[in-house]
Amino acid sequence: MILGIDQGTTGSRAFIFDEQGKVVTSAYSEFEQFFPRPGRVEHDAAEIWDVTRKVCHEALQDAGIDGSGLTAIGITNQRETAVAWDGKTGEPLHRAIVWQDRRTAGRCDRLKAEGLEAMFRARTGLVLDAYFSGTKYEWMLKEGGVPQDALFGTIDAWLLFKLTGRHATDYSNASRTLLFNIRELAWDAELCETLGVPIGSLPEPVRNAEVLGETEEFGGKVPVAAMVGDQQGALYGQACQEPGLGKNTYGTGNFLLQNAGEGSPLLEQGLITTIAWGIGDRVDYALESSMFVTGAGIQWLRDGLQIIEAASETEELAGSLETNDGVYFVPALTGLGSPHWDPYARGTIVGLTRGSTRAHIARAALEAIAYQTVDAVRAQNTALGVRLKELRADGGATANAWLMQFQSDVLGVPVVIPEIADTTVLGAAYLAGVATGTWTEEDVKGLWAESRRYEPRMSDDQAQSLLADWRRALQRSGRWVIP
Ligand code: ADP
Repeated sequence: MILGIDQGTTGSRAFIFDEQGKVVTSAYSEFEQFFPRPGRVEHDAAEIWDVTRKVCHEALQDAGIDGSGLTAIGITNQRETAVAWDGKTGEPLHRAIVWQDRRTAGRCDRLKAEGLEAMFRARTGLVLDAYFSGTKYEWMLKEGGVPQDALFGTIDAWLLFKLTGRHATDYSNASRTLLFNIRELAWDAELCETLGVPIGSLPEPVRNAEVLGETEEFGGKVPVAAMVGDQQGALYGQACQEPGLGKNTYGTGNFLLQNAGEGSPLLEQGLITTIAWGIGDRVDYALESSMFVTGAGIQWLRDGLQIIEAASETEELAGSLETNDGVYFVPALTGLGSPHWDPYARGTIVGLTRGSTRAHIARAALEAIAYQTVDAVRAQNTALGVRLKELRADGGATANAWLMQFQSDVLGVPVVIPEIADTTVLGAAYLAGVATGTWTEEDVKGLWAESRRYEPRMSDDQAQSLLADWRRALQRSGRWVIP
């Protein structure tokens, strides 16, 4: 059996998979989110480790095995979130700065003003945005009191360090830091120097499917055999091993990735190029659109506005209305990602009347998830010069049938849900299985199966008119905060 660890933004999940790639048991636990100031989002890395370890033990216990019953461990994780820790004590030196955190937006502006964006883009495939880890590490060193001899890493590296004592990160996670040259597959000395991050403090970059070390945390010695960023993990778990295949994950944020093959494609405005995975001698690249707040907008209705008790209520609320009655919610709660890259955008709700109810807001929040996806698909279609034929979807919000139908309607192509919805962790488990000989890459493609398909039902005119209004609403949320 293989233990798959999914260390997400809101919680950690552990899964035990059998040889057929089927889920035997799983366990989940949320952890605390810290919002110390507007625009800042933090996690406690020590709590992440505790919660992650706990759910692994639970899943193993439910399966009636311990570490000696495991062939391998595969890890997938929330990407870009920056952790700093003491290499000797293994204790965090600062709260982890989460991918959604906007505190380094001003720093990114200054780097752009210095004309450095082209260099960063050419080498890392990314845009200069506070989203990525590099400026978060820099902030910790310059403003956060973290000493020069700290160890840095994203959550994959943090968990690997706690499990095995090794300081390493995989290519897919490394490619999200603004410090990694995605063609040379190495940390870029000039970029590290620009951000004042000592190369020696960064983890060793490694491929996505290979034994990285062993852990005794679960009894016996179990190899950690794969690490992969959550979105690249989902791309693998959706069996998108070939160029032209793509997936969209509906979680805290939405992430649309298309396999771009072994060449790293030229960058188009608003899109980013990233490493999908390195397996053996092969490195595959992907085009990515990152939408920061999608499911998190639903969480905000629940925890911030408190107009729903559970995310799933939005399905019925949205369905209770014939139309949106002109109400649009732009959930730019942490700025906007692709294709706008506007860290100063903020959330806005437009079109309210005295007849507006919480159903309108809930519906608008779901519609916004779908509209953002349409914008992302269109940008990728333009960049690649081909029209996406169907959208493979996964993630927590795919449970919402109203949303999936609306998505297909406004996109005008079928939306397909796979049998195993947890594709993120499935990808990590597949990679761990490939690394340890449980599966070949061909086996993995054969394990993917479709479970549900939503066909578009809306007229093109109606879809275009909704999208036109969405874009008007979008403009109003742009550059709201004055830097
Ligand atoms: P992550 O891995 O980013 O933590 P998940 O894939 O577990 O996210 O998905 C959780 C997200 O999906 C939450 O933001 C939640 O608000 C949203 N979500 C879950 N169920 C539904 C639903 N039925 N309708 C709409 N959104 C949902």
